Amino acid sequence: MGEVTAAARHGGSDGPGIPALRCVDLAKHYPSRRRQPTVMALRGVSFEVPAGSTFGVVGESGCGKSTLARLLVGLEAPTSGAVEIAGRRVDTGPRSDRRALARRIQLVFQDPFSSLDPRMPVARALDEVLRFHHLHDDRRDERVVELLDMVALGGRFARRYPHELSGGQAQRVAIARALAVEPQVLVLDEPTSALDVSVRAEIMNLLVRIQDELRLSYLFISHDLSMVRHVSDDIAVMYLGRVVEVGRYDAVLDAPMHPYTRALADAVPVPDPDAKRTSHEARAVSHGGRADPPPEPASARDVDDEHACAFLPRCPVAERVCGERAPRLAPAAAGHEVSCHVASAAAGLGPADR
Ligand code: ADP
Ligand code: MG
Repeated sequence: MGEVTAAARHGGSDGPGIPALRCVDLAKHYPSRRRQPTVMALRGVSFEVPAGSTFGVVGESGCGKSTLARLLVGLEAPTSGAVEIAGRRVDTGPRSDRRALARRIQLVFQDPFSSLDPRMPVARALDEVLRFHHLHDDRRDERVVELLDMVALGGRFARRYPHELSGGQAQRVAIARALAVEPQVLVLDEPTSALDVSVRAEIMNLLVRIQDELRLSYLFISHDLSMVRHVSDDIAVMYLGRVVEVGRYDAVLDAPMHPYTRALADAVPVPDPDAKRTSHEARAVSHGGRADPPPEPASARDVDDEHACAFLPRCPVAERVCGERAPRLAPAAAGHEVSCHVASAAAGLGPADR
């Protein structure tokens, strides 16, 4: 196991109160193609991740989780809104600053093999990253072994090619490569979903240990509430490109307010009057979000959530106002926000209008 000295810690250096990661009104629209309407993959998402904490993001397939991940790490530019890392916007300022800022946040994908070059042995994949960023130039070989130790693989994996790795080992390499640039934030997009059930806990434990040792902040994405519940400090629930509920993990889990969150928490079926159009969504809800991903959810395209609640077609508690005005995220209890007219009214706050 690699010794991690205080000097090797990546996080915790930006002053008290400055969130590690923040996004403000982030939106992503994919323009229409082949007579298909525009896809509103993200529709105004705002939240912040305190330094050293884990922010869980949960929601069924197609709700915009991976789009959010790509925007956060700069793989794609938002249609509008902004991303801040350690209090600094990533899209303004001199180029060298932006590059240094971009290094602070790294993405770990669901499929580890998708991020590894099949022709490149593990050591070279790590070495390339170090070389590109001029890190540890005088001791790169040593550093590669340290990184492999950090993910509990060890130097004997250095010469292996991706096809000689199990899924779990490949994900460890992908994590080591993300760590190579000494980031402060890891965006983990369903990092165990593609792995055998037997190795999921190992990878989760590894991620928790690394976070602790390096004082990293995590944005942990999953379609499965039961995955994020054990690791998250805060949880955001997404539905069709919006955050519909967000708060401390225990508030969201113990007292879920949005009917969609309740369905995810209880894994109970949600009646679906519009069963034809949203049948795969209904299945996803009734199985706690664990349905097979639909090829391409039609719903992200054609929901008009300006004039009615986007969850209305599936909502078991909807009232008239839900078909008249779209709710907006509003505080409903200490450290707990919800976007639901009915839940806000129940909390004594009146309809959750803009
Ligand atoms: P999730 O990760 O939650 O399953 P995604 O972020 O992958 O969701 O997708 C959100 C929505 O955006 C889906 O409707 C998806 O089909 C659409 N989408 C994602 N990427 C693109 C793209 N490059 N072009 C067009 N539509 C996209
Ligand atoms: Mg995804």
